[in-house]
Amino acid sequence: MLLFDARWRDLAADTGRWLLPGDCLLCHERDPADDLICPVCRSRWHRVPDPVCDRCGQPRDRDTSCRICQDWPAGLGSVRSAVWLDGAARRAVHLLKYEGWWRLATAMARPMVGLPPLGRGAVLVPVPLGRARERTRGYNQSAKLSVALARQARLAINANCLVRSRETPTQTRLTPDQRAANLRSAFRAVRPPAHAVLVDDVFTTGATLVSAAAALLAAGAERVSAVTFARAEPPLAAINRLV
Ligand SMILES: [Zn+2]
Ligand SMILES: [Zn+2]
Repeated sequence: MLLFDARWRDLAADTGRWLLPGDCLLCHERDPADDLICPVCRSRWHRVPDPVCDRCGQPRDRDTSCRICQDWPAGLGSVRSAVWLDGAARRAVHLLKYEGWWRLATAMARPMVGLPPLGRGAVLVPVPLGRARERTRGYNQSAKLSVALARQARLAINANCLVRSRETPTQTRLTPDQRAANLRSAFRAVRPPAHAVLVDDVFTTGATLVSAAAALLAAGAERVSAVTFARAEPPLAAINRLV
């Protein structure tokens, strides 16, 4: 039944494209061409600005030490996000993740091309979903993003070297400490690439990436980096953009 639901959602998303020709999924007004989201709505995705912490990619005052990444494992290097998780970007993530619009991955991968971790030799590794969740959703949104990004950035992809070793309860309502505990040993890796670049839709506290990176490093990866489409906005950044 779950599988049927997922297939039905996929079908609905596919046929929806035919039922709404010429309509952008966000504004429902303009022609999105092949991307499902029009250029005006895409221009409302706000780039995460410099300066950033060299490691976790968080904008910050260069003179203060970064509290986000100070406890990360040594092999987890550079983590970068393309845009802030606000307004139009948040709606795109919601459509990709919960409404069956996996084809949005093409548009969402576009601003990720050129992020610093995506250099020569990088191999994209999607952050896996638990099996039950993937069955319910019908697909893994990070895998869809990885495929689109691999094509646009001309990079290799390895979707088999990292799996969820157990289901983890949803993270949305957990504190950062609870998230870390929730994710401990959540991933298992086998024969990872030397430079694995994790791909995920959203960076929130980094707990998922840290847990996935630890598994890849323990299995022999020399270096792990990560890229995400969006980054949850810290309260200070939100205030600064309003003034
Ligand atoms: Zn639009
Ligand atoms: Zn940092």
